[in-house]
Amino acid sequence: MSELQPRSTRCHDILGCSGEGVVRIAYNTRRHREEFQIVSSSTASATSVNRVFNFNAGPSALPLSVLERIREELLDWRGSGMSVMEMSHRSPEFESINAAAETGLRKHLAIPDDYAVIFLQGGGSTQFTLAPMNLCLPGKPVDLLHTGTWTAKALTELKKGIAHRIAATTEPVKFTRVPRKDEISLSPDASYVHLCTNNTIEGTQYHAIPETAEVPIVADMSSDIASRPFDVKKFGLIFAGAQKNLGPSGVTLVIVRKDLAERADKNLPTIFQYRTHIKEKSLYHTPPTFAIYIVGLMTEWIESHGGLAGIQKRNETKAKLLYDTIDSSNGFYHCPVEKDSRSLMNVVFRVAGINGQSAATNPDEASEKEFGKQAAAAGLVGTPGHRSVGGMRVSLYNAVEPAAVEALTSFMRDFQRKRG
Ligand code: PMP
Repeated sequence: MSELQPRSTRCHDILGCSGEGVVRIAYNTRRHREEFQIVSSSTASATSVNRVFNFNAGPSALPLSVLERIREELLDWRGSGMSVMEMSHRSPEFESINAAAETGLRKHLAIPDDYAVIFLQGGGSTQFTLAPMNLCLPGKPVDLLHTGTWTAKALTELKKGIAHRIAATTEPVKFTRVPRKDEISLSPDASYVHLCTNNTIEGTQYHAIPETAEVPIVADMSSDIASRPFDVKKFGLIFAGAQKNLGPSGVTLVIVRKDLAERADKNLPTIFQYRTHIKEKSLYHTPPTFAIYIVGLMTEWIESHGGLAGIQKRNETKAKLLYDTIDSSNGFYHCPVEKDSRSLMNVVFRVAGINGQSAATNPDEASEKEFGKQAAAAGLVGTPGHRSVGGMRVSLYNAVEPAAVEALTSFMRDFQRKRG
């Protein structure tokens, strides 16, 4: 499968790791000088950049070919004479960009026609409020599967006057796994079940979605959307900020079964009703145009990797390499997450000290700090865990290249050799 190609001929060479492990990627554009005539000298193009291996948890790495395409089209989007950033959202050009992003998502996520695809603002966090506002039925509670920080945030909003139940929680095991089937007690008359498919901070992920019979599932897929094939029909509503697997921050994807969006009271503020955005095809007000454009490019990139099946394979390979490195370190590294619940997107682990003790029983914060520092110095950026839990967290979203994980695991073995 070929990479998403920038439109003009150019080549970029990965020159390989320097002594510190920093990958230098040099671009040699073959653009002619005249092509830059409309660029003032103060904005002259840089012809070489250093790109690090980026393991940030979101916003996070974007594919190089997508960034190149953005650069290519930045000043003059496909003969329009302007940047996507400068376009009217009511123009036919932007309408085609909006439609292409939706079509790409519909194709790759296999979204059925009875589901709407809308592009909103406010991040996943806003959906903790909009979902109950639109989908709650009188007297019918929301059932929440509590698996960590992000379901806690959803719970905080539900506590502000919305009937709800905690249908399962893995808090007693410190969120080191998602709930087992027999631990989930659902109410048959719930308005919906809220769950988070991938817990970004705790490093857990559902590898099978719980059965909820007729009760719709509202899924927070912020950190694993489009990372693997999944059956949209199992869900009533799916939401995700684009900034991990699908583009930059600023746009939130909502996929909602159209009949569920009709549950909302028509007296809700217009902008807070899903039906408004469905009816207006995300153009009720000015949408985050540039971010939507990049989502469209990301769907082309997904295509070039064999769709979600190809992406899943790539993600599984990356995660296996990292988990194998952790598991074969004789306790120098330790992943606290139960194997069945391990996330392919966010790999969390602890690091042992220089005293020979195991990371499972005696994780060493000083060692972890040093790991993060040395990794960053070697061009492996974004490895420290979330500030609320500590340890390390490596995010392996779609755009993270297998070569990045190879460089990281090689660094990990070195780090252990020097200290273990
Ligand atoms: N849910 C999950 C699982 C997340 O990882 C995040 C962001 N890290 C959010 C919700 C919140 O998303 P946002 O910052 O876009 O509001």
